[in-house]
Amino acid sequence: MASRIPCPHCGLRPKEEFTVRGEALARPSPDAGPDVWYDYVYLRDNPRGAYHEYWHHTSGCRRWLVVSRDTATHEIHGSRDAADKAEVSA
Ligand SMILES: [Zn+2]
Repeated sequence: MASRIPCPHCGLRPKEEFTVRGEALARPSPDAGPDVWYDYVYLRDNPRGAYHEYWHHTSGCRRWLVVSRDTATHEIHGSRDAADKAEVSA
């Protein structure tokens, strides 16, 4: 696991300052059917390779980030604020 995470607000920070929440999924529309909501809430892929996760900078700026990580090598490729579109490279 990478030891330092690039926070777009705080710079490179130790991973111990963060809480990992899980896969960064696009939230379905409120009127999506029950099967779509079931998949969103309960089902997860377990890919090998590129993966986007929600990380909370709990001991820092307290912002939610989307961190791009390789599940095989644990290399961090970048991050962005979950509310933004621009990504910060590792
Ligand atoms: Zn931060």
